[in-house]
Amino acid sequence: MGTAHESQRGETDLRPAVLCWVAAMGPDAERACALLPADAVVCGVGLALFCLVADRLLQLPVIQRHDWLRALSDSAVHGVIGMWSWAGVAGVRKKADLAEAILAGCLASVIDVDHFFLARSLSLKAALTLPRRPFLHCSTVIPIVALALKFLVHLLKLRDSWCRLPWMVFVSWTSHHIRDGIRHGLWLCPFGKTSPVPFWLYVIATSSLPSICSFMMALAGTRQRPSSKHGIPMDV
Ligand SMILES: [Zn+2]
Repeated sequence: MGTAHESQRGETDLRPAVLCWVAAMGPDAERACALLPADAVVCGVGLALFCLVADRLLQLPVIQRHDWLRALSDSAVHGVIGMWSWAGVAGVRKKADLAEAILAGCLASVIDVDHFFLARSLSLKAALTLPRRPFLHCSTVIPIVALALKFLVHLLKLRDSWCRLPWMVFVSWTSHHIRDGIRHGLWLCPFGKTSPVPFWLYVIATSSLPSICSFMMALAGTRQRPSSKHGIPMDV
């Protein structure tokens, strides 16, 4: 992301045509598309490649043979995807941005601890053989938590930097659920669950997530047009 001038000059070539159909939807959608950062597009391509490579590597016998290694590797992949996705949304230009991306990676990985909560045990075997899916893996929880956080940020009148948190939770948890969906489908409690997500759809959905989030943030007024070469000011 750069200055407003740079955005207008440089993004025309990089912006995927599939996202520009929004121009026909009205001024708000057109504004959102105009604000789509090139970083999100570049990160999307990188994410797709990472998904393709990482999930193939996890199938290696040396990883599959050891439960803890498999679990830790799986968690690391969730973390990198969450970190990468948020970097695609917010950009990484200074230490604070890097800290945000790392926090998003931690958020993407940490929700697997609900396996241990439901198992009431630190045993990996118990955590992996649950009778049902743990509550943080219910995808309807994501918008509820994100909206609750947004409400809290308003209520407590927290600083502008906190306004990114609901979106960070949305991106990091959604990326985790999409990836888990390859094996288990998406659990949309109380409505049931979907069939397992095809691998190609997982790659496309994961790589599109930063762009979709940027678009939604622009529509919600959370992302403003860049006004400084040092970053993008945020508000709610
Ligand atoms: Zn999970």
